[in-house]
Amino acid sequence: MNVKSPTTERGADIYGFTDQERALRERARETADSLNELARKSDATPGYDAAWHEAVDRLHKDGYFAMTVPPEYGGTPANLLSLVIVQESLSRVDGGLANSISHEACAARALASASEEIRRRVFAQMLAGSLTCIAITEPDAGSDLGAMATTATKNGAGYVINGNKSISSLAGVADIFLIWAKTDPAAGTRGISTFFAPRGTPGITVGEARDTLGFRQLPHHDVSFVDVQVPEGARIGDEGQGLAIFAEALNVGRLGGGAQALGLAVGAYERALDFAKKRQAFGQPISKHQAIQFKLADMFMAIEAGRALIYSVARFMDASELGSREVGTYAAAVKAYESDMAVRVTEEAVEIFGAQGIWKSNDVERLFRDAKVTQLVDGPNELMRMRIAHALIR
Ligand SMILES: Cc1cc2nc3c(=O)[nH]c(=O)nc-3n(C[C@H](O)[C@H](O)[C@H](O)COP(=O)(O)OP(=O)(O)OC[C@H]3O[C@@H](n4cnc5c(N)ncnc54)[C@H](O)[C@@H]3O)c2cc1C
Repeated sequence: MNVKSPTTERGADIYGFTDQERALRERARETADSLNELARKSDATPGYDAAWHEAVDRLHKDGYFAMTVPPEYGGTPANLLSLVIVQESLSRVDGGLANSISHEACAARALASASEEIRRRVFAQMLAGSLTCIAITEPDAGSDLGAMATTATKNGAGYVINGNKSISSLAGVADIFLIWAKTDPAAGTRGISTFFAPRGTPGITVGEARDTLGFRQLPHHDVSFVDVQVPEGARIGDEGQGLAIFAEALNVGRLGGGAQALGLAVGAYERALDFAKKRQAFGQPISKHQAIQFKLADMFMAIEAGRALIYSVARFMDASELGSREVGTYAAAVKAYESDMAVRVTEEAVEIFGAQGIWKSNDVERLFRDAKVTQLVDGPNELMRMRIAHALIR
């Protein structure tokens, strides 16, 4: 599928992209189109099948993961706008695959606070194809991270970590574990610290990949930590800094979640537009019926508004301190706006396809399922609205 729609063409022209950004967009669109078949195949089974490995290897070879590693450690220089462009383009075929780029960008952001030794080691692994597990959510601590029960207790050899995590994306294949645990349980969220452990560290057990509605190319797992011994040097940042480290990484993740949602909407819109011009009903293409025209026009407006918002916020974030309050508010707004928009647009795309819209063989069926997940990933949208409202009424 390689539809050239007005949205595709004008999107590149009216948002002030540089030649380099336009070229990146074209390249990522081509990569996405070449991955569509693999994404469809991999969607059929939970976990990491051959199609998943082939797709992720392609993303590595084409240099998209290298964009998440800081250039001083061998990565490709890339600002957040470039990462948005890549994720939007890739999500035209699959949200989960695009999210894996965002996931590594979040990990890289968290690692900015790590020791030089850890950074050198982990970034080299990431460039060689390793993926990361970000283990913060727990069975009884989702949005409410103060309820975290995992502990890291100091002993003579460093820290010993005990606890259970859930919804840890990519944990089944990750070589790098970033773990959030309480070093001072009495201090609530101020007692959370961040640690690094390599795969194979005794005491880490990863459960089966969960079978999910969407984002099936981003499998997630329960992970348990039983007497996991890490050296003191494995701590990232100071004790008690864990939530601040996570918040900064999460701002990158929320911008990424917004880009994935936008791309899913674009992918569904492009397919629906193409179909509407071909499908005949009552003697003419359905695109000639006003009810369908209005749907397409509404989809176009929603997508372009989403583009205007996310490109502006990405540029703003590129020019700002990532931990700032304003960045957090705008990152939350992007994530909530784009994901709510993606659910509406992908649903309309399914509608335009009629019964064919719910066929497993139809890409819009997958894009619709992925869009729902973007309302939940990187925090549910209720939490985004709380974050925005707090900033408004403070
Ligand atoms: C695809 C995907 C990948 C993920 N990957 C990772 C990962 O790699 N690592 C990781 O650690 N986590 C990951 N997560 C977890 C994600 O960050 C959590 O889903 C999130 O933090 C919220 O936790 P929860 O889903 O358990 O929902 P809960 O926080 O339990 O919320 C349940 C419901 O209650 C609502 N709610 C909660 N508190 C309030 C409130 N105060 N006011 C109003 N409503 C409220 C929520 O909006 C939601 O509707 C992932 C999630 C998804 C969907």
